[in-house]
Amino acid sequence: MSDASKGVLATARGALRAGLGPGMLLYSATLAGELSAALARWLIAAVVLNVAAWITGWPIPVQALALAVAFGPLAASLLCLICPPLMDPIAGRWWEMSCGGRPPEPDEREAFERAIAQLRATDPSVRAPRHWFVAEDSRRNAAAYAASLRLDRGLLESPYVAPVLAHELAHLRSSDARLTSALNLLLLSPMDTPAIRPLRSLALRGLLWVACGQAALWLTANAWEMYWRSRELAADEYAARLGLGFGLASALEADALPHEQPIARMRFSRATHPYTKPRIVKLRAPGPGRSERE
Ligand SMILES: [Zn+2]
Repeated sequence: MSDASKGVLATARGALRAGLGPGMLLYSATLAGELSAALARWLIAAVVLNVAAWITGWPIPVQALALAVAFGPLAASLLCLICPPLMDPIAGRWWEMSCGGRPPEPDEREAFERAIAQLRATDPSVRAPRHWFVAEDSRRNAAAYAASLRLDRGLLESPYVAPVLAHELAHLRSSDARLTSALNLLLLSPMDTPAIRPLRSLALRGLLWVACGQAALWLTANAWEMYWRSRELAADEYAARLGLGFGLASALEADALPHEQPIARMRFSRATHPYTKPRIVKLRAPGPGRSERE
């Protein structure tokens, strides 16, 4: 590989690593907010367990159990970032089951390995994730979570495997996929923002909203989505630097662009992805170190 190519790849890796800073700051703020969830859970668990101990007469270790219920989700979430080898395989398998994923068939594995070889020809540091699975979906999407990758069957049958894979590997190589799993563990169960009425049950519904972890995530949701949108552009940039910008642009044009809808106050919204058309234009724009090919 030439010195120029090495420089380009080093810049791309640097851009990926740069994603760690603001993401970790946001995560710290979210975790601090989740302390209120822990307090609410401790309160609920202590009351329920004390009542159970009083009714049954059993020697229930109320304090230990209440603390586990309160801080367990926070500890599990932190472990995703502190000890990935422990949490990634569990999170990945759980995600596969939740997605209804299945192991790849031989032709799908072949398409995947061909794409990895294509990426490695430009960036020798590219590694295939240890765990990836196929989602039985005719669309051409892919997603990264913890250290795992989900590829739609439709993508593996399409000509866009390498460019989409490059984009997803960018999420896996940075902190994006791991932060997603860490955030997910902070939420015990999704819950709608409580309506004001009926007033008599508002306090209880509010307490449950805080206790399940949703309140702190709701407060930080806009900031998170702004951050995730910036990470989408960073992942696009990595694919473009591997020479796959045109391919990724074509994939977006075929699969994402037809479904676009206007979003009110987009910059501050909770949209998970930036608008597709500017992404396509950016991917097709000439840039330093890009040797585009369809
Ligand atoms: Zn992405």
